Amino acid sequence: MHRRITGKLVIATHNPGKLAEMKELLAPYGIEAVSAGELGLAEPDETGNDFRSNAAIKAIAAAQATRLPSFADDSGIVVDALDGAPGIYSARWAGPSKDFTAAMTRIERLLQERGATTPDKRTAHFVSALCVAWPDDHLEEVEARVDGTLVWPPRGTAGFGYDPMFLPDGHDRTFGEMTSIEKHGLPPLGLGLSHRARAFVKLAEICLEPR
Ligand code: IMP
Repeated sequence: MHRRITGKLVIATHNPGKLAEMKELLAPYGIEAVSAGELGLAEPDETGNDFRSNAAIKAIAAAQATRLPSFADDSGIVVDALDGAPGIYSARWAGPSKDFTAAMTRIERLLQERGATTPDKRTAHFVSALCVAWPDDHLEEVEARVDGTLVWPPRGTAGFGYDPMFLPDGHDRTFGEMTSIEKHGLPPLGLGLSHRARAFVKLAEICLEPR
């Protein structure tokens, strides 16, 4: 049985960008979002082997610490020609200074080394895993992806992370060239384009009721 989220929800992130995005997504559902950062919770080590387990580790740690339902996400980019790298290490490839130009350049160098110069050899997808954990150990988990190809040089200055390199299938502009409304494509304007929007739509179906 799926469980609905009601009342207060802890957002297990210390990233102000992610918190703002989640507050915006949750607003139509009358959910009061508070962040792990605001509550002074420690950040657990992300020791999982995949996106889903890392999202669960963060959500469970926050639910146990606060005794409130808690939400966490984990995401990243998976490059086929690089055997799935950087994957769960997507944030780490940018280093402590969060230098995504360096991280994208590293991907491009490795693609060139492997002879991945044509679009069919440069396929990649973003993954978003979302988890809501309750203090009694109940979990709701969803995952979604968006497929595309990697372009070089990077295009566009919108978005963050690997957006300027990622051309979603069926589009002629990278995520870096799209507005956030275009990138997420959330209903009622769209059906969800980005991995995070698609995962959120799935979570809303099972856990949220519009006001
Ligand atoms: P985490 O989910 O906080 O572990 O970080 C995931 C990392 O994946 C981010 O730091 C970005 O580098 C990358 N990433 C995840 N989603 C996106 C996206 O929508 N656009 C660009 N990069 C992303």
